[in-house]
Amino acid sequence: MTTVRITDVSKRYGRIDAVSGASFELGQGEMVALIGHNGAGKTTLMKLMLGLVHPTHGSIQVLGEDPAAGQFSARRRLGYLPENVSFDATLTGRETQRFYARLKQEPIAKAEQLLDVVGLGAAVDRRVGTYSKGMRQRLGLAQALIGRPQLLLLDEPTTGLDPELRQTFYEAIQRLAAEGTTVLLCSHALTELEERAGRVIIMNRGVKVADGSLDELRRLAQLPTGSGSKYPALLKARYPPGYPHPRHTGGSTATSSRSMRHRSKRSICCGA
Ligand code: ATP
Repeated sequence: MTTVRITDVSKRYGRIDAVSGASFELGQGEMVALIGHNGAGKTTLMKLMLGLVHPTHGSIQVLGEDPAAGQFSARRRLGYLPENVSFDATLTGRETQRFYARLKQEPIAKAEQLLDVVGLGAAVDRRVGTYSKGMRQRLGLAQALIGRPQLLLLDEPTTGLDPELRQTFYEAIQRLAAEGTTVLLCSHALTELEERAGRVIIMNRGVKVADGSLDELRRLAQLPTGSGSKYPALLKARYPPGYPHPRHTGGSTATSSRSMRHRSKRSICCGA
């Protein structure tokens, strides 16, 4: 079953093409990494899926609805963790979680249990203003998990988490995906996601330049398989001088195997 369908979507801000002709689908229970450097268009894609901004061109379906439509009822079935979480510093963790549970019209007791899941159990009655960055990030995650969302959009979710909490975080996310939640994880780097996400979408300057499983991408980039340490080279690579940027070629921006192979000879890029 398809959770998200993005068809030839572009988003322009003035003279900036934040997203150009992107097309892809996310299936139920898929865990997908959306990778790209600063300004690649990752957050814009998430905002489009949330209906916070509207496409300049193309169409989007999320859980069978158009997020740009007035009544986007599917929003209640979405969880979103923004890159920079911001909460009322005067509320406690528990009060914050209760506030979001009421907004989503979900049971308060269940929402409070999520504070334990993200390791905030001992701090629930402390004011958020006294939380460390990592604790605020975990509170953001607990908020995103309210109501067992069918689609989780997580923008740089592990920023500020120590290795142990990252491990706990990914275990919780993987459990949700196994139960049918579609998870889109946005990051600059693939390193920590590479063994976790079943599929990787790479964006570069608003253009989708790669989409596939890690093994497929490694094969197309002619990198050794089974070695996580080599893979980041694919992400760090830039277009060599004179190599046409996909946006200027007039060709399809969707990643065909042929164009992938063509690019991979020169190395796939997602550089800004
Ligand atoms: P980062 O990793 O730095 O968060 P990103 O991949 O999430 O980057 P976006 O935030 O989607 O990238 O931005 C894509 C492009 O669109 C950038 O050039 C950015 O400056 C531009 N942009 C995003 N939002 C706006 C806006 N509201 N007004 C004007 N330009 C914008």
